[in-house]
Amino acid sequence: MKFKYFESPELYVGCRETEVTCDICRQRKICFNGESFFGTQKLRSICPECLGSGKLNDLDSFTCDGDLKNLKGQLRELHPNLTDEEIHQIAGQKSFELEKTTPHLITWQDWSWPCADGDYCKFIGYGSKPLYKSLAKDITVEEFFKNSFYEPESYYDGLWTDAVPEQSIQHYEESNQYSTLFYVFKSLHSDSIITIWDCD
Ligand SMILES: [Zn+2]
Repeated sequence: MKFKYFESPELYVGCRETEVTCDICRQRKICFNGESFFGTQKLRSICPECLGSGKLNDLDSFTCDGDLKNLKGQLRELHPNLTDEEIHQIAGQKSFELEKTTPHLITWQDWSWPCADGDYCKFIGYGSKPLYKSLAKDITVEEFFKNSFYEPESYYDGLWTDAVPEQSIQHYEESNQYSTLFYVFKSLHSDSIITIWDCD
């Protein structure tokens, strides 16, 4: 199961436990639950192949909401020679691909999918002390954690000690045990790591 903006959805997305009929291709498969997708088109189940191959493109259904405003800002900085119309078009295409082909990440609150280096980021897992330790290279892990915040104003001193899970969260079901969650993303074009956090 390979998705551009989502690593290992078989771990981090709640799939239906038994094979069901995919609403699109009508085959019996292990499917994603489509009930929490956005849009007016109601889907019960969609298989990874149908989602990944863009079968939502013609339906009023999407799985997330890209941070279009920040993406345009990044693209403008990276490509100062492009016109507003070109920026608008590139950002629109990237948002369409993200929102139509990415498995749905269950979160406590609604927030926009982050971008970095002029593209949307890939979700790589739930934040935990072991995960951040494995990612931090030249700086202390707390500093690394702080620097990774997508919205720096949402960081506060003590968050690391008080709220970041001690154990790694290796499965979607394990994430249900935490009322505060850190969602970790990686840039597609650099080693940049982005953290978004929320709580119930
Ligand atoms: Zn299907």
